[in-house]
Amino acid sequence: MPWSTENKYRPFCSERCKLIDLGQWATERYRVAGESIRDEIEIPVTREN
Ligand SMILES: [Zn+2]
Repeated sequence: MPWSTENKYRPFCSERCKLIDLGQWATERYRVAGESIRDEIEIPVTREN
């Protein structure tokens, strides 16, 4: 398993991927923080006949 010891950016394949992923995560955090949480509770109503 050469990648497990040589890749210091794991679980990302590279520093670039790591920064991109962390950037997206931070963006998602800011977006959620700026919005209401009411949409989290959205139960789909399904009826079977
Ligand atoms: Zn990658």
